[in-house]
Parts: sequence; C-alpha cells; structure tokens
Amino acid sequence: MKATLKAFLFIFTLSFLAISCKRENIAPKSSDVSQAVLNQIAAQGFSTENVKKVSNGYLVEGDIVLTNENLTQPASSPTLLIANEEQYRTTNLVKNIPRVITVSVTNLPTVYSNAADAAIARYNALSGTRITFQRVSSKGNIDIIGFNEGPSGGYITLGSSGFPTSSGNPYNQIQMNTNAQAYGTNPDLGYVTSVIQHEMGHCIGFRHTDYMNRAFSCGGRRSNEGSAGIGAIRIPGTPSKADAGSFMLACSDGSDRTFNANDKIAMAYLY
Ligand SMILES: [Zn+2]
Repeated sequence: MKATLKAFLFIFTLSFLAISCKRENIAPKSSDVSQAVLNQIAAQGFSTENVKKVSNGYLVEGDIVLTNENLTQPASSPTLLIANEEQYRTTNLVKNIPRVITVSVTNLPTVYSNAADAAIARYNALSGTRITFQRVSSKGNIDIIGFNEGPSGGYITLGSSGFPTSSGNPYNQIQMNTNAQAYGTNPDLGYVTSVIQHEMGHCIGFRHTDYMNRAFSCGGRRSNEGSAGIGAIRIPGTPSKADAGSFMLACSDGSDRTFNANDKIAMAYLY
C-alpha cells in the first residue's frame, strides 16, 4: 500500500513539502525491467507503470510482488463487481479451508507487532468466513518483516506483499516500511493496523478494489490498471452504489481504514 504525499502532508511535517513537490513530477521508468516481463505483467491485468525489480519478482501497483510463478500463470480469475469503483478481483485464493493461517512478526518495533495483533483480530471478528489468523512467535505462514525506504516519485511505500501460490497457500511475507517518513517517528497504531490488514488482504488473494481506476484513491490522472473486466461477476446481494473507503483501495489517505460493508460481503463470499 502506498500513501500519496497529499495524504502524507496531513500528518507529517511541512519540511517535507519541499522534497515532495520536487519529486512529484518525476515519473520513475520501469527501465530495469525487460519488455517481455512488462508484457507478462500486462497479460495478468496489472499496470506496467513504475514496475520495480525486487528479489523475488516484480513490484507492481506500488505494493504487490508478482513472483515468477504469478507471471507465468494463465490470467483467468473473475472480476467481482460490487460498486462502480469497487471491483474485487482476485488472483489465486487460499485453498484447503476452513483453515488457520499463522502470522509472525520478525524484528519490528512494538507498534508494528501490536498492529499485527489488531489486524488479526479484525479478520477474526468477521462473521461467516472460514479462514482465521493466529499470531505465532516465529515462522508463521505469513511473516511480517521491516524495510527502510524513503519516498520516491511523489509516493512512499507503506508496506508490500503478494498473492497466494497456485497450490493455494497464502503469500508468505509482508514487508512494512520502518522509515520515519512512512508513519512518522511515533506511528499511529490504527494507521499501521490498516496497512497490515490491507497487505494481509493481498496475501489471501485480494487485488486493489480500485484497480480499474487508481485515481479513485491515489489521485492524479485516471489510469486503468487492469483488463476490461470481461467475465465480471456481481457478488449477489450487494449494493451497486459506491461504498467509500474499502480496505483494499490502492492508496492510503492516512486514516485507519478497515472493512467497509462491501468488503465484509466480499470476504464472506470468497471465504
Ligand atoms: Zn495494495
């Protein structure tokens, strides 16, 4: 998940403004990524803007790691429609449910650890879902670790993760930014919780609900991140009216987002 510098400035110091304005016009190029890989990313329905090579694959849409396995899979997942701006598309889902997914936190400050517990509690409080999460001391199915990276291109990455494997296991790692410019020097528990909750959403297969138009949460120009929504399925019983503040919006507004009404319906439908 990313934060726009606009949202960022609500919370953080004005001294950062000078840096952010300077950086706002820089459009990072996906220059270190081959055209063949960009084609594979596009074929999966993801944006090819600002793709970054990372150790285990490619970082797309600011916070999603696509592994080599993801890139070579046929893109066949349905688009689940709820509202015009909210489309719950998944890549792989976690299989063998009901299931308990364990979560560990490795070498992170206390607030991140407390936020992990809070995010787990939010998932476990959902009714009608058959996956639950459990905190363990180490080597969880999902391990949350830190990285330290300042802003780039008008955005700062708050956290990142990836999608379930083709065999149906959740993605095994969430990376959280420990840079002071991500959450400030005294991170807000609710804000960090909302980002971990979002990254856990990717780990179990959720894409960004505004992937068809990232401008919805990220601002800037309208950009279609995905395929044209062919084969879209409207989740039965859900309203078609927009329901703001989905936990899976691509960009954070700096607030503590949690599951909105449609998110809960989508979770219950998928799990
Ligand atoms: Zn995300």
